[in-house]
Formats: sequence, C-alpha cells, structure tokens
Amino acid sequence: MSRYQLRRDKLRRLMKKSGADGFLVTNFTNVTYLTGFRGDDSFLILLPDGEIVLSDPRYTTQLKEECPGVDLEIRTPGTAMITSIRKVLRRCRCREVGFESNSLTVDLHGALVEGVDDVRWVPCGGLVERLRMVKDRDEIRSIRKAVMLAERAFGTVRSGLRSIDQERIVAHAIENEIRRFGGRGCSFSPIVAVGPRAALPHATVEDIPIGDHGLLLIDWGADSPDGYKSDLTRVLVTGKISPKLKRIYQLVLKAQQRAIEAIRPGAKCADVDAVARKVIADAGFGKYFGHGLGHGIGLDIHEGPRLSAANSEPLKAGMVVTVEPGIYLPGVGGVRIEDDVLVTRGGHEVLTNLPKDWDSAATQLG
Ligand code: ZN
Ligand code: ZN
Repeated sequence: MSRYQLRRDKLRRLMKKSGADGFLVTNFTNVTYLTGFRGDDSFLILLPDGEIVLSDPRYTTQLKEECPGVDLEIRTPGTAMITSIRKVLRRCRCREVGFESNSLTVDLHGALVEGVDDVRWVPCGGLVERLRMVKDRDEIRSIRKAVMLAERAFGTVRSGLRSIDQERIVAHAIENEIRRFGGRGCSFSPIVAVGPRAALPHATVEDIPIGDHGLLLIDWGADSPDGYKSDLTRVLVTGKISPKLKRIYQLVLKAQQRAIEAIRPGAKCADVDAVARKVIADAGFGKYFGHGLGHGIGLDIHEGPRLSAANSEPLKAGMVVTVEPGIYLPGVGGVRIEDDVLVTRGGHEVLTNLPKDWDSAATQLG
C-alpha cells in the first residue's frame, strides 16, 4: 500500500467519525499530501471506497504519472469546477459531504451550498492538517534533505560574503545555491537583515551593504525536490557589536537550548514555549520576545503544531517543529536562533547541524 493510500485511509476513518460519506478536499497542499499530485487547481473527493481527483486537461498527463490508480474527473474547457463536483457527488450518491471549512473561500462555499443542494455540507476544517502534523518516514527523509540543502547553500554563501554585498544580493545567492544543489529554491523569501534591521522579525531585504554593521541575521530555508521545507536562522557577527547584543545572543541561545531539551512526546506545546520565555523574561527581556517559540514544518513553511502559549496540545513522535526564540531591541538590533527539531519516541533529534555557539558566529567579510 502506498503512503498516499495510507494517508487517505486515515482520513477515511476521521471522515466516518464525523458522519460524512464523502469529503471534498479543496486545499491544494492537502490534495498533494493525499495523492502525490504536485500541480494545483485540482480538488479531491474522498469516498468510503475510492477517490477522485477533479481537474482540467492541463493536468491529465501529470495526474496519471503522479497518482496512478486514482480516478480522474477531467472537465472540458468552459465547464466550471462546481459542475464537476455536482456530477461526481450525484454519481456516487453522497448525502453528507465534509468540506475544509478552515480554508474554503466564502465564494466557493456559497457556490457549493447553492450549486450542490442535494447533499448536506458538513464543516470538517483541519482534518488533513491534523494528519499532516505527524510525519511519516518518507516525509522525515524529505525534511532532512531540505535541511541539508539549506545548510550547504548557507555554507557556500557565508564563506564568500563581502562587505559590499547588499542584503538583497545575499538573499539571491542563497536561493541560487539551493537550486544549484538540487532544491526547488527557498522555502520562503530569505530574511537578510543587518544591524538595527535585525530587530524586525520579518524584515524585507534592502539594498544595504552588509559590511556597514556588526550584525547580520539570516533566516532562510530550502524547498526539497518533493516540496518539503526547512527553516533556519543564524546571526553572524561581522564586526564590532555592543556588549548588550553579545549578551542577548547568549541569552537567546540558552533559551533555545533549554526549550529543545524540553521537547519529547507528551510535552505540551505551551510548556515548551514557556521554557524559552522564562529564560528570556528572567533576564529582563521578556517584552522583547514578541512571537511564539516555533511552528511545524512540512509541505508548508508554517503548519501545525504551533509552539505557543495558546496551544496546550501535546507533542507527538513524528512532529517536526522549529525552535526559534528571539530578542528584538528596537533601533539597536535583534537576535533569533532557529533550528528544526524532530520529536522522536525517546525525546527529540535536532535535524539542523550548523554551529551556533558565540564563537562560531564570528564571520570575516571579504
Ligand atoms: Zn525562519
Ligand atoms: Zn520559522
């Protein structure tokens, strides 16, 4: 049985529990997760004893290659998707159909309720996302690959950094190296932020030469060939920085290491977040750590579980989360250190390998 069949069977069990005899998957990433199809603009209808991908002629060949054995409903040009949905659900005599209420647009919901009025639509938001939180062996291998690509690209770019390089050029070089090593590209637009701009957790890249400041924050990740993501952050010390910034670097590192140590099956996400937050708050910087500790990664760069004070759910073996505490001093600078961590049966494994101790941050610019 393929990994996709296994995933669909798990979803079937959840679908049954919710009382539905069909399930319409409209989130394209969820369709990929359940079928292996890497294109978009296609929906999946899951039935108790089968599954049908609804798509258009652009994808017929790709669908046959990427998800053999899955039935297809290819609409003719000019036919609306809603017509395909109605046709399939009537043919299969579905009565109660689950839909992804967490990601459906209001427009599409209106079209479903009006256009397919002989079924009862059951909101079932987040079912596939719940399955996606726990990775199988293939997914973990792909995330390892994404980590490896990100680290190799970083290593190459770091060794060639020059004072005159602008943030934008560094970001571009990382993307380029990831592709050269075989990845699809970056998993998101890299954040390359110098000096005080590192205090902006989501800084956009600018035309500022990196040599004019002592501190360089890089937050980047790779997209593996099959679409799995990695997400890392390192801060490089490229010149003179204040003792205060050195102190916050060491504090963020301590908070991160403590939090990683707390990761194991059964540990509550909120408690892991609290471990890091306490280290930072005890040193008097609590109000400068204004975001959650981390997030799941997989086919999306941000997915469940969130490591935040608001999430009391326990971690499970197979989850992969980022651990990324940060301290941001407005107008001065910021430090964030981010690694990707797999929850294992016995505790955890840090998937990322780049050094992060204070000495390793020192970087000579060319
Ligand atoms: Zn990141
Ligand atoms: Zn992240």
